[in-house]
Amino acid sequence: MEDLKSVLGECGFSFKKQWGQNFLTDTNLLRAIAQDAGVDENTTVLEIGAGAGALTRALSGRAKKVLAYEIDRSLEPVLARTLAGCENVEVVFQDFSKAEMSEVEKELGPFVVAANLPYYVTTPIVMRFVEESKNCKGLTVMVQEEVAERFCAKEGTADYGAVTAAIARRGTCKITRRVPREMFTPRPNVDSAVVKIDFTSGGFEVASPRAYRETVRCAFLSRRKTLENNLMSVFRLGREEAKEILRAAGIADGVRGETLSPKDFARLSDLLFEKGIVK
Ligand code: SAM
Repeated sequence: MEDLKSVLGECGFSFKKQWGQNFLTDTNLLRAIAQDAGVDENTTVLEIGAGAGALTRALSGRAKKVLAYEIDRSLEPVLARTLAGCENVEVVFQDFSKAEMSEVEKELGPFVVAANLPYYVTTPIVMRFVEESKNCKGLTVMVQEEVAERFCAKEGTADYGAVTAAIARRGTCKITRRVPREMFTPRPNVDSAVVKIDFTSGGFEVASPRAYRETVRCAFLSRRKTLENNLMSVFRLGREEAKEILRAAGIADGVRGETLSPKDFARLSDLLFEKGIVK
């Protein structure tokens, strides 16, 4: 492949900060990300943010098919050169947040997401797959290191929050590698990490995903309040009723929401749903 930086220069490309354009060039790292994602010749990959196509090309070499979204049309001449000969790649120049998940899924069948995500929309993009996708088997994504810590946090820690609990319902989450800021062009102000979220293992069923979401939201609404007090104010319960529900869910008196495990949230939300407190 031609040298990426020269191609960008020859195409007159200028980096746009507002779209999180921090590109990767290190071929060993790119290969390692494709490997972390478990991509092989039977895998269909969805990439969000093709950029100059470095990761796209690494994925293309291992995958059955790669569908890549890119918001910036000025990258079209760049990608025409960097992805020359990659017959299994399709690039769609569109804002991924405007794409319908059901349409994307219809086109792909079972797929994995592999991407170096634009930092300004990392969490909303990941949450869309967590909450909406049916065919996605998992995501392997480069994100800011502190966001990675939040995604994989353990209960009772400061990083643990609503996003952690949402991801845990669908599967397992782990950091596969830390990536220093020096690996990107241009260099961002933070370090990054690759996170692997696997929807094929470790997730659990709940009576209502919506009730689970509402229960988790309630628990983290005011982190300093006890769960009992948050339940009372969010769902307009009396103290005795809140205590009884917690007891029935096997949750100790006086705890704060952040100490509950995702499975504790599931038991609590199933009860609230059964009782018609959360629809
Ligand atoms: N994959 C390339 C790499 O690893 O070098 C580029 C990654 S760069 C961090 C993120 C890319 O996402 C940029 O090319 C940016 O233009 C694109 N992007 C930003 N917002 C987007 C959106 N809403 N939909 C699709 N692409 C987007």
